[in-house]
Amino acid sequence: MLREKSLLMIPGPTPIPPQVAAAMTQPMINHRGEAFSDLFDEVAVGLKQVFRTEQPVYVFPGAGSGGWEAALVNTLNPGDTVLSVSVGDFGERWFKVATKLGLAVERLRFEPGQAADPARIAERLADDREKRIKAVLIQHNETSTGVTNDVEAIARVVREHGALIMVDAVSGLGALPLEMDRWDLDVVLTGAHKALMCPPGLSIVAFSERARAASEQNTMPRFYWDLKAVHSSYLKRQTPYTPAISLFYALQAALRLIQAETLEGAWARHRVMGAMCRAGVRAMGLQLLAQDEARASNAVTAVVSPVDPKQLRKVARERLGVQLAGGQAELADKIFRIGHLGYVVPGDVLQALAATEMALAVLGQDVQIGRAVAAAQEVWMRELRG
Ligand SMILES: *Cc1c(COP(=O)(O)O)cnc(C)c1O
Repeated sequence: MLREKSLLMIPGPTPIPPQVAAAMTQPMINHRGEAFSDLFDEVAVGLKQVFRTEQPVYVFPGAGSGGWEAALVNTLNPGDTVLSVSVGDFGERWFKVATKLGLAVERLRFEPGQAADPARIAERLADDREKRIKAVLIQHNETSTGVTNDVEAIARVVREHGALIMVDAVSGLGALPLEMDRWDLDVVLTGAHKALMCPPGLSIVAFSERARAASEQNTMPRFYWDLKAVHSSYLKRQTPYTPAISLFYALQAALRLIQAETLEGAWARHRVMGAMCRAGVRAMGLQLLAQDEARASNAVTAVVSPVDPKQLRKVARERLGVQLAGGQAELADKIFRIGHLGYVVPGDVLQALAATEMALAVLGQDVQIGRAVAAAQEVWMRELRG
């Protein structure tokens, strides 16, 4: 096999477009100069469009995980109670961040493959008559299980209670519908290396007016993630400390591509890829982890593996040139995942499905070669016919 030609179908980091790779080779500039401020402005406008917000969107050098910390330290006080709603491993990780920061964390967990039930969140919040719960933490798209939460419905019940709603949209923003202002979300965080088609290294966070007002009063210690510092720099079209300039260039190029496709166009492309992938998986006779089709993710598909998923991924990677993802935490030996977000097109999904069914056949499973691909083609065809 020509090892270099390998299709990366994992849910982050995702493949990057050539325009994004090329953008990063530009010469370094003074981060306190006019050229950077122009770059900053264009990125600021583009990010507001993908977050669907009129609020400023802040860019920190960091991994997606940094956004979890930024959300909490800027809005809460030590010892505050928060409700961690978790549908998978990334939900659990955010729970751990909140615990380590000294917050009193109440938990509401859902089984892997299930979405968060807005009615159960509403019940939990209704019990909180003294309004001890200051914030609700929720995943937009749970990457570890391939489930998308109904953030709009959840936001509605949280609004009724009055707590802040904080949304981890690391693998959803740019791929799946999310309306920060219309749904009245308080904190939305993402990373550059999933649907935004950039290399890893940027943590991107937006705060509502309500959340920013909380940051004026709250007493959690912070320096690196300090919203007040980043906001006063924002007004000067700068960042408080050295920005990841090459990644700003990457993000500028990626945002231009999103503008050209339109955000709605990107959502539609992901919807087609998700439907194709699930049709293919079902045609192989395999079981999806996401139990409810309406909440199955169009960014990543988690599949219950009939063979050792490590073996399957090894055959796909080494003999078929396709990289699939494994499961996380307790799902490690149970599932494999097909990422279809960011710089990915329906044809890539066909290739991933072809590799999956071939790898299963190589491992002795009774699969009929071509069925998964045909089922996915049918979905794509229906889309073409309108
Ligand atoms: C990828 C991801 C993160 C952050 O991951 P990093 O490794 O810190 O970049 C957080 N939440 C979700 C849902 C993710 O998919």
